[in-house]
Amino acid sequence: MAGIYIHVPFCYTRCSYCDFYKVTEQQYKDEYIKALRKEIDLNASFLRKEPIKTIYFGGGTPSTLTIDELKSIIDDLKKHLSFDTLEELTLEVNPDDVSQQYIQGLVQLGVNRLSMGIQSFFDAHLRKMNRRHNAQQAREAIEIAKINGIENMSIDLIYGLPYMSFEEWQQNVQMAIDSNVQHISAYHLTFEKGTLYYDYLKKGQLKEVEEEFSVQQFEYLVKELTKAGFDNYEISNFALPGYTSRHNSNYWTGDTYFGFGPSAHAFDGNHRKWNVRDVRKYCTLITEGKQYYELEELSSADRYNELIMLGLRTKQGFELSKLEIFLTDSIRQEFDKELQHQLKLGNVIIDDGFCKVNDTSQFITDRIISEFFYVGDE
Ligand code: SF4
Repeated sequence: MAGIYIHVPFCYTRCSYCDFYKVTEQQYKDEYIKALRKEIDLNASFLRKEPIKTIYFGGGTPSTLTIDELKSIIDDLKKHLSFDTLEELTLEVNPDDVSQQYIQGLVQLGVNRLSMGIQSFFDAHLRKMNRRHNAQQAREAIEIAKINGIENMSIDLIYGLPYMSFEEWQQNVQMAIDSNVQHISAYHLTFEKGTLYYDYLKKGQLKEVEEEFSVQQFEYLVKELTKAGFDNYEISNFALPGYTSRHNSNYWTGDTYFGFGPSAHAFDGNHRKWNVRDVRKYCTLITEGKQYYELEELSSADRYNELIMLGLRTKQGFELSKLEIFLTDSIRQEFDKELQHQLKLGNVIIDDGFCKVNDTSQFITDRIISEFFYVGDE
């Protein structure tokens, strides 16, 4: 198995745009850690099967956990997994959880990569997003992490914010470059149902930015980060040489992974398993020895759609020979037809056995992916 994902669902506040599974009630933390460790133990026999390359603590906000709490989870993983093959141990952190002591504790636990949710270097944007940190804390957190032993750091930025000017975006990109981190993830704002921003959009209090403006911001991002030596290896992800996210690359290449914690997913090549998206239910079901997850066998159409969706978002694209494993006649017919159409439009190209999105069509990747999707039930 390539990777382990641990979902930590706790956040102190709710960001206005966020639709990740999280709770702000910290009182479930002890119960959650107990249940999580039990879930790890319950899967001991499965975990022993294969060496592990990556571990990723995501959320929510994993940095709401103390060093001792994280240690108890990592110690449990060590009981059941060989850490000899471990290349990358990532933890998502919020800038205002970062202190010298905390970072040193993480380094001692073996954390060798941080993913920091910066989002913007402007206080006005951070306030509107209901982020709990400010720009000064963001800059300081990056420096504290660097001088205390983190040599592989990723920061997240958001663009397409209705209240962000192009000049502000340019400054955000430049400040990200100047912060000398090894990896930058930049996501366009989406209005997801259940978020505060979705409600604002429906009430007309916020408006989506024009596509032309989004393209302008994306093009600036790609141009400047490329100039600074970053490789745009996935549509939203940029890395200096040697610093691609190994954990996320596992997902994008269709490698197997296992997830622990509420809402975490697992994939063994043929099945997808997902845990209940409710921390209280998760704890109760695990404590009572009941089923806390759902499992489904992936159909040919599911596997085809997944390969298209993940592969076309990467710079390399997807390997055409991988399709042969599960293509049925009807999916093949649809795929061949769409491929010819997209080739003619110049949206995709075939290069050394891989199908990938042409550089000039990168911004419409999601649209291209949806055109390739197979909607039948095979
Ligand atoms: S963006 Fe991160 S910190 Fe903000 S609510 Fe979502 S998970 Fe929590």
